[in-house]
Amino acid sequence: MGGFGETIFAEMTRLANETDAINLGQGFPDTDGPPSLLAGAAHWIGQGVNQYPPGPGRIELRTAVAEDRKARYGIDLDPETEVYITVGATAGIAAGVLSLVEPGDEVVLFEPMYDSYSGVIALAQGVRRPVTLRPSGSGPNARFTFDPDELRAAVTPRTRMIIVNTPHNPTGTVFTPDELAIIAEVCRDNDVIALADEVYEHLVFDGTVHVPLAAQPGMAERTLTVSSAGKTFSVTAWKTGWVMGPRPLVRAVQTVNQFLTFSANGALQLALADALRDEQGWVRTQRDALQDKRDRLAAGLTEAGFQVSNPQGTYFLMADIRPLGHSDGVDLARALPRLTGVAAVPAQVFYANEDEGRHLVRFAFCKRDEILDEAARRLRAFG
Ligand code: PMP
Ligand code: GLN
Repeated sequence: MGGFGETIFAEMTRLANETDAINLGQGFPDTDGPPSLLAGAAHWIGQGVNQYPPGPGRIELRTAVAEDRKARYGIDLDPETEVYITVGATAGIAAGVLSLVEPGDEVVLFEPMYDSYSGVIALAQGVRRPVTLRPSGSGPNARFTFDPDELRAAVTPRTRMIIVNTPHNPTGTVFTPDELAIIAEVCRDNDVIALADEVYEHLVFDGTVHVPLAAQPGMAERTLTVSSAGKTFSVTAWKTGWVMGPRPLVRAVQTVNQFLTFSANGALQLALADALRDEQGWVRTQRDALQDKRDRLAAGLTEAGFQVSNPQGTYFLMADIRPLGHSDGVDLARALPRLTGVAAVPAQVFYANEDEGRHLVRFAFCKRDEILDEAARRLRAFG
C-alpha cells in the first residue's frame, strides 16, 4: 500500500477544521437522521442489545432490507442467505473485492471513482482497468457518461469484476436503463461479476428513477449490490451497510468479512430495521430537500464564476474551475479554505488518468441552507 497516502477526505476535512472553513469537501450531512431512528438506537442500547450480533447481521434488519428491495424494485432476496450486514458499505465493498478478485485479476471500473475501490483492488493485488466518464452536452446540461466501445475494449480474458456506482459519486450521474443494459451485456458476454455500489439509491432528483444493475436480465446471479444506512438516513457515523446478492457471492463475502470485522453494531441494526419500514416518508422529504439544496448551491457557485454540472443524484456536484482562471483542482482545493473559508475536494484524485479531472472540484450540498448561502457568499467574494 506504499503508494497510498492519507485519503483526500481526511486531508480536506482536517484543513477545513484547521482553517475554520465551511466543509463542502467530505460528504456528510450537517443535520441528523429521523428522530425515531435516533431514539431507536438509544432504546435498544438501553434494552441491553450490547453484545456481538450474528456475523451476517440481525435477522430483523436483513428481513427489512429484503422487504424494502422487494417493494421498491421487485427483487426477491432470502434474508437468511442473500443479505449480509457490514460495517458501512466500505466493508461490503472490501469484502466483495477481497473475496472475488485474485492476484492479477482485472477489475473494470468507471472513473472518476470512489477512492476505496482502488485501495481494496490493491489489497487484493488486482489490476484496475478504468473507463472514463466524460460530460456529454455542456454547461448545466452536461451529464457524465461512458463510451460503450471504451467499456467493451477495457474487458479482457483476465477481467473478473466490474464495479458500477449508480447514482455516481462524484459526478451525480444516475445510469439509465439503456446504459445499464450495455453494462449487463458486457458482463454476460464475458462472464464478469458486477459489484454495484448503490449507496445513493434514494438520493435521486427531478423524477429520475434509480434502476438497480441486478434488475437487468441475467444480472441477479452475478451481481453483489451494496447500500448504506449512512446515506439513506443521514447517519454516516453509524457505519452500517448491507450487501445483497446470490447465495454463493454473499457466502464469499461472509468468508472474508468474518475476519475483517466479524459483525457490525447490533443496536443500530435493530433501530435501522424499524426505520426502513417506518421512515420512508422521511427519506422522500430528505431527497426533495436535497434537490433544492443542489439548485441553491449550483446557483451560488455559478454566480461565483464556476461552471457547474447538474447531478441527477447523490449529494455532490462537480464544478469546472477554468472559467475562474484556474487549471489545477488539487492546488485550488488546498488553497481554497485559507483563501475563501470554504473547503471542497479536487476531482483529480478520483481519476487514474489525472489529466481527465484536473479542472474539476467536487462540492457537497448536503448542508443547511444558511451554510450553503454563506459558502456561496464567501466564494463570490473570492471570485
Ligand atoms: N461508496 C460510495 C460511492 C460512497 O460515496 C461512500 C460514502 N463514503 C461509500 C461507498 C461508503 O459508505 P459507508 O460510509 O457506508 O461505508
Ligand atoms: N463518501 C463520502 C465522500 O465521498 C465520505 C468518504 C470518506 O470520508 N471516506 O465524501
